[in-house]
Amino acid sequence: MAELLLSPAHVETETVSAETVDETLIEQEVAAMERIKRARETLGDQVVILGHHYQRDEVVQFADFQGDSYQLSKEGASVAAKYIVFAGVHFMAESAVILGRPDQVVILPNMQAGCSMADMANAEQVLTAWEELEQVLGDDPTNQIMPITYMNSAANLKAFVGARGGTVCTSSNARGALDWAFAQREKVFFFPDQHLGRNTGKAMGIPLDQMVLWNPFKPFGGLTDAQILNAKIILWQGHCSVHQQFRPAHVDAWRKHHPDVNVIVHPECMMDVVDKADLVGSTSYIVNTINRAPAGSKWAVGTEIHLVNRLKHANPDKLVQLLSPFACLCATMYRISPLDLANVLENLVEGRVINQIFVPDDIQRNAKLALDRMLAIPK
Ligand code: SF4
Repeated sequence: MAELLLSPAHVETETVSAETVDETLIEQEVAAMERIKRARETLGDQVVILGHHYQRDEVVQFADFQGDSYQLSKEGASVAAKYIVFAGVHFMAESAVILGRPDQVVILPNMQAGCSMADMANAEQVLTAWEELEQVLGDDPTNQIMPITYMNSAANLKAFVGARGGTVCTSSNARGALDWAFAQREKVFFFPDQHLGRNTGKAMGIPLDQMVLWNPFKPFGGLTDAQILNAKIILWQGHCSVHQQFRPAHVDAWRKHHPDVNVIVHPECMMDVVDKADLVGSTSYIVNTINRAPAGSKWAVGTEIHLVNRLKHANPDKLVQLLSPFACLCATMYRISPLDLANVLENLVEGRVINQIFVPDDIQRNAKLALDRMLAIPK
């Protein structure tokens, strides 16, 4: 029988069986369901729970609203609740603070729930890159290059673009954001997701050699002056660890065995995958397309597995499967467990706020500028 040694932080140091640990965890998670329900009843309209599309079922079942990050932040701001519990990841909770009312408090059930893509670009790196671009492009890069950050970025990067005339984009409006930027400046500095930037630029007809990759760990991004001067889009070398797992070979395998399959993928997937897909779009686009598809249709879906499984169960008259044979899971969002949700709600019942997300006022102000510009861009 396998044995585990639990640390003193968990129990008095003692040797227990793996089966005992499993049983205890399962019992705790089952009990957490009841704890969540009781706390919800006590808190009533004081609290709203937001659940991202990629959140696990045991947690998302308690969500008042389910959707993508921007949509959820707007839902949170639209209700009377004082407490917004965001079952997503850190940057999403920050967006809820920026878009929420000043009297609202935003809580992330587990502070370890980050986004690996958002973590691939920090403010110091982006500022260094901007200053290096300034050296190549001349004194005032704002005359020539527009910074755009994807919604999946930290609040201070949204503030960075806001302060420099730039905007935020989502996977739904990236094309509009690029059109808007090119109407004003010659070049775009796009971060942190290279794939969304490249896929969108390619769809606009921008040649691949004019979309260069900025490596934040190399001086001048590892680019020559000529490459920077020739570029239309400078793409940050970041990616989503979930969507990057889909491969062109997965599309080929589906087509071989199901020639009538529809391959639908998220634009955070690599260009080679997007090129082979039938349809590409945001999580909301994927949800709406499959829900409205005719009975009997077949779908191989390139996005996070929890969403794909929910789509599968909601559409029993269709074949809906993950594009990849491997589980493509947002492991950081998965860190939020029912126990975490029970914990933050019970603390609220006791009058304590734990895991509150704060965004400094100056960051909020500039980030809001960038978000407001995004809203003003025609769809
Ligand atoms: S799916 Fe990718 S981009 Fe979305 S939260 Fe997870 S790691 Fe970040």
